[in-house]
Amino acid sequence: MALPTLPFTFLLALLGLSVGSFLNVVAYRLPRGESLLWPRSHCPKCGHTLAARDLIPILSFLWLRGRCRFCRAPIPLRYPAVELGTGSFFVVAGLVFGPTWQLLRTLVLGSLFIAASLIDLDTMVLPDAFTLGGTALALLLPPGPRPVYLWGALVGFGLLLFIAWASRGGMGGGDVKLGLALGAFLGWPNVLIALFLAFFLGAAAGIALILAKRKRRSDHVPFGPFLVVGSLGTSLWGTKLLQLYLEYVWR
Ligand SMILES: [Zn+2]
Repeated sequence: MALPTLPFTFLLALLGLSVGSFLNVVAYRLPRGESLLWPRSHCPKCGHTLAARDLIPILSFLWLRGRCRFCRAPIPLRYPAVELGTGSFFVVAGLVFGPTWQLLRTLVLGSLFIAASLIDLDTMVLPDAFTLGGTALALLLPPGPRPVYLWGALVGFGLLLFIAWASRGGMGGGDVKLGLALGAFLGWPNVLIALFLAFFLGAAAGIALILAKRKRRSDHVPFGPFLVVGSLGTSLWGTKLLQLYLEYVWR
């Protein structure tokens, strides 16, 4: 495959930053039952409507030095972080897939799952619109409902259902439905890599939080974000990771 051109990569970066900015809005408004398109974005502290120049991803955060222009309330670092993360995901996906249907599929579903993980972080709830809706979308988007995606969905659902049962409430129904959606997104056997990465990241983060005394062992940490990060990594490099594993472990 020919390497994507520079303008294509630049366009994906702009698109990714803008989508990241929109995902912040989705994660803030959807759990509050607010409309996604109206009214214009406003400061959650003073309610002032933000000007167009205050909505430019990353840059507005930098030149406002992370504070609201009107009331000086700090803007959470999460906003530019989500923008930058989404932008990077778009750029790397463009480099991996080039201008293909697979790229479209990866960007649409990746964005959906990023929003879901933000809502899970805030509310500990994974809305069905994202998990069940994501499953339907993963089976409808090109290349359509192939056996590889159906098997992935079945395995993602089955494994998380088993873990939810074994952990006795440590993991909820939302995570099981997210497993279904991520399995349909990644397909078999890549869903296994994603789950492995998610558990590895989750365990590492859990230990780090306990050591930093930010959380106690009994505190609930949402697992959705780890599933999503593991899955986004797998959507980009899953086949390569599997090859490496087979080459070095099973030769
Ligand atoms: Zn303000």
